[in-house]
Amino acid sequence: MRVLVINCGSSSLKYQVLEMEGEQLLAKGLVERIGMEGSVITHRKLTGEEEEKWVNETPMPTHKEAIQQVLNAIVDPEHGVVKSLAGIDAIGHRVVHAGEAYSHSVVVDETVLKTLEDCIELAPLHNPPNIMGIRACQELMPGKPNVAVFDTAYHQTMRPQAYIYALPYEYYEKYRVRRYGFHGTSHKYVAHRAAEILGIPDKDLKLITCHLGNGASITAIRGGEVVDTSMGFTPLEGLVMGTRSGDIDPSIMTYIAQREHLSNDEVIEVLNKKSGVLGISGISSDFRDLEAAAIDGNERAQLAMKVFAHKVRFFIGAYIAELNGVDAIVFTAGVGENDMGMRDIILDNLDNLGIHLDLIKNRVRGKEAIISASDSKVKILLIPTNEELMIARDTVWRVNLLKQGIK
Ligand code: AMP
Repeated sequence: MRVLVINCGSSSLKYQVLEMEGEQLLAKGLVERIGMEGSVITHRKLTGEEEEKWVNETPMPTHKEAIQQVLNAIVDPEHGVVKSLAGIDAIGHRVVHAGEAYSHSVVVDETVLKTLEDCIELAPLHNPPNIMGIRACQELMPGKPNVAVFDTAYHQTMRPQAYIYALPYEYYEKYRVRRYGFHGTSHKYVAHRAAEILGIPDKDLKLITCHLGNGASITAIRGGEVVDTSMGFTPLEGLVMGTRSGDIDPSIMTYIAQREHLSNDEVIEVLNKKSGVLGISGISSDFRDLEAAAIDGNERAQLAMKVFAHKVRFFIGAYIAELNGVDAIVFTAGVGENDMGMRDIILDNLDNLGIHLDLIKNRVRGKEAIISASDSKVKILLIPTNEELMIARDTVWRVNLLKQGIK
């Protein structure tokens, strides 16, 4: 089965074409500046180790034209990877928020679309472009199954004690205010992969998965089911991130708003875009820049990295308590996969918890590795995430169920 994976943002769109027999990536690309001057598609065709890049600047006023350009690129006689759209069997869409409606991926029909529209108030920036992408595919490839794969779905196994906020209960009932969690597709992918690498079935494993990228979240998983996760009602909660504050005392919001004369929206903007390691360091949200500055003796860059690591350690400790022990800790995403120095700081001096990083094995980036010392009770794994592959796998799963008459 050949699957087109679509990840629609507000003005950009990422895509991949995968041949699921052998899980081979055939093409991938990025559309930027949708609805703006200078819309452009960058398409990459992959043959073995070879990668051929094709850039086409053309007006794309809406997501529909953007998806049309993606389809043109993948069937293009020179740069394409299929002869015609008949060569694409299904489309898998990343969708951010399904509220409490879905705990797994689903084949999209009008009821699903209505549910996703109903979740717009929970994810006002993300769900609308996700829905636009689905509708455009329905129009441009009528009859092909579209599968929605949700960032929130994997976390739906959390029990109420993990997801209920200590607020008036009616806010949960009236406004659906609860912890949902995000990055679910990434946590699910690395958790499955960890089970495969360790040769232990999911059902027998206690895992802590650390997705540390520009956005960062950490998840406790027991027996293949999420017990707790650090992101909340929105992706703002939990760990310190590139530009997001993570957990803060909520009173700070009104205290700062009064003094800086900011509206509610402006304070949220500060917490989302100007905080995190960028806010502390005043230099960058990128850990490569922070490390360079830290080496040069910049104290705020050093502090930002310490605060980031402190919070990850804090959650690791909390989740070990919640899981009553852990078999493996997994690192993934930009920082988790590449930043050996940060892994080193996060896992320093945890021997009493049975966690012992091998400093030599830790000198690796961007590829799967077991980096714990041989005497470490807890295995430490580095697993590059692959959300697109997870979306494609879920798409195949749902389409096969659909063929058996199961919706
Ligand atoms: P992501 O959101 O998963 O794409 O992660 C992006 C972030 O990963 C960047 O902002 C960097 O902070 C971080 N990153 C990427 N490569 C490296 C590297 N070689 N060393 C340290 N951090 C890195």
